[in-house]
Amino acid sequence: MCSLNDNDIDEEISTLESQMTNSILDGKQCQKCNNEDATIKLRSKYIYCQSCFQVSVTHKFRATLGKSKMVRPNDKVLVAHSGNGKSTALLHLIKAGMHESVHKRLVFQTQVIYIDEGMINNHSIDERRSIINEIQCQIQPLEFETFVASLAVSLDQNNFAKIEKIQDYLILDNNRNDKQLIEFFNNLKSETSKEDLLKKLRFRVIVHAAKLLGCNKIFFADDSTSLSICILTNVSLGRGAQLSLDVGFINNLYGDDLIIMRPLKDFTRDEVNYYLNMHNLKIIDLKKLMTNTDSFSSIRKLTEHFLTDLDSQFNGTISTIFRVSEKVSAVVAYSVDQSEHCILCDAPLDTSNLDDITSAIKATAFSKLISSGHTQNGVVNGINNSDDNNSENLVEPSHSNTDGSCGNCAESGCMNKKPNTLSSKDISLCLCYGCRLIFNDSYNHELLPKFLMNNAKEQLCLKTMRNEITNFLL
Ligand SMILES: [Zn+2]
Ligand SMILES: [Zn+2]
Repeated sequence: MCSLNDNDIDEEISTLESQMTNSILDGKQCQKCNNEDATIKLRSKYIYCQSCFQVSVTHKFRATLGKSKMVRPNDKVLVAHSGNGKSTALLHLIKAGMHESVHKRLVFQTQVIYIDEGMINNHSIDERRSIINEIQCQIQPLEFETFVASLAVSLDQNNFAKIEKIQDYLILDNNRNDKQLIEFFNNLKSETSKEDLLKKLRFRVIVHAAKLLGCNKIFFADDSTSLSICILTNVSLGRGAQLSLDVGFINNLYGDDLIIMRPLKDFTRDEVNYYLNMHNLKIIDLKKLMTNTDSFSSIRKLTEHFLTDLDSQFNGTISTIFRVSEKVSAVVAYSVDQSEHCILCDAPLDTSNLDDITSAIKATAFSKLISSGHTQNGVVNGINNSDDNNSENLVEPSHSNTDGSCGNCAESGCMNKKPNTLSSKDISLCLCYGCRLIFNDSYNHELLPKFLMNNAKEQLCLKTMRNEITNFLL
């Protein structure tokens, strides 16, 4: 997925520029055609001339799309674009594919979405407007229809009429939704949680934009470097069960109606940078607007620093991690039951049905309970009976009314349970393990946005009704 934090690409491009213009790799010949001077060096050993590199990149892109046999001529594809190098290269590759000879031509319809998340990154209104203008200038020559959505619309349940064409998008001062979103983020303590939440909210907006625009495919411009970083970060954040969704070539979480694809997954960062440089493609320099550039401020940044550093010394580190993940990620089957999906990230709940089995999550909750010194309730009887503010709440149901009712009426499974009557334990029950960790640091659940509360309420009611039907049939 496009990310504001992938700006190291800028530095790499300037290094590559000097490499390509100043040296012809010691006068060596391209190893493919043995005719032209080599100007491009990949993985420290493969050397190509520009035309052979272009052929190989185009072939790789088309082969990745073609092998899957998922992309059809009448598809409508939404490309997530952040202005960074990867998504710029992806848009250019798609456009180039549309001008190939007839039998090779890409004929699907392409639309572009940019998510305006400047309010989270402390950008001023003028800076945000300037980025939107730059995005518009960047895409104009490609002639793709482009839309913009504010990240703030992710907090609103009925927000999706607010996705607008880029030329009609307005950024208003003192926007109420922006303020709510900023407050939501400011209540999170760690940079890691903020980054994780940003990623999930951005994903939500893109998915809903695709549904609103009638698109049946979404392309994310993740290359093998960003996917490898995502793999290690995911594992560190307790999102190992969701690896296939976040790094697989195809994510079919939403069924055949909306398939998410990552057509640059086999591209290395160097290939992307050489491609941008070769075609003189301008990218949006977000680095100059970033306030927090400390590479140790979050797990994701730390992982990126560690991996890129290691890969520069031991070539192949990134590709090894990426290849291993491909084998791991293909084995997960998804439940179609919406009451078994996380209300924030839509991933299948990896925390259900843990009551009777030993699990890492249960062991972690138990260990936390012991460490917190709460030894009077709950330890002897397992972790079921402790109060609402402890980590054990992350595992067991908390409804004081086990029938899911509002407490004011006798009818079980009633729909009158107001969102603000949900406890933090209720909300936790509807979140996957990774999303629970975002709000784990004594987050005041009353500050959660309405859509999370409403989704939790709906999901708990569904669960209650299902239990009742099961009990009735037995
Ligand atoms: Zn060549
Ligand atoms: Zn989740």
